[in-house]
Amino acid sequence: MSINIAIDGPAGAGKSTIARKAAAELGFIYVDTGALYRSVAYYSVSKGADVSVPENVEKLLPGITPELRFIEGVQHVFVNGEDVSDKIRTPQVSMAASKVSAIPAVRAFLFELQQKIARENNVIMDGRDIGTVVLPNADLKIFLTASPEARADRRFKELKDKPDAPSYEEVLADIIKRDHDDSTRAIAPLKQAEDAVLCDTTSLSLEESVDKIIGMIKKLL
Ligand code: C5P
Repeated sequence: MSINIAIDGPAGAGKSTIARKAAAELGFIYVDTGALYRSVAYYSVSKGADVSVPENVEKLLPGITPELRFIEGVQHVFVNGEDVSDKIRTPQVSMAASKVSAIPAVRAFLFELQQKIARENNVIMDGRDIGTVVLPNADLKIFLTASPEARADRRFKELKDKPDAPSYEEVLADIIKRDHDDSTRAIAPLKQAEDAVLCDTTSLSLEESVDKIIGMIKKLL
């Protein structure tokens, strides 16, 4: 039986960085489920679809084959054979991902893929509904959070050297809007599973957060 660790939490809480490092140290596969929603959003936007209209996205789904490939332990996201790992990280795709993720047909479409990966591998899977919906029987569930300002500050630093980098205020507004949309949507809203351990990283450094999470997982193993 594979070991499944679920890490959920809002945008910018450090889930992906922490989960990636912990997975590398423990020899688990790191699965970034946000990348799957982003790949659906990217594809829809690239086809010129207005993603706020669910039907526009729904009719594109049969033509999308998202795939996670692990190349030397690093996750790459492919859509119909094209590596879109970098293209899905723009603020435009972030907003579109939040919109497509509220569409039930999109969630059903990605649900099977996520469960299959978890069945076949020891995983640390991060997202919004992993502990509540995708892996309700996960061996360990962690809800990772931090204040909106701390999260905006981290995202801003990641993006600031990229072309068309947004301002700190824009990043913060984006995070607050996505938090609101993700936690108030009707389907699979962002919320802490009852049996999840809450971990607030506002005043922790990245190293401290990684150590804390690895410590929790090692205790379990
Ligand atoms: O984690 P990341 O910011 O890459 O996720 C992009 C968007 O995908 C989120 O804003 C959220 O709306 C959606 N998402 C989701 N369920 C997941 C992972 C991501 O709804 N398990």
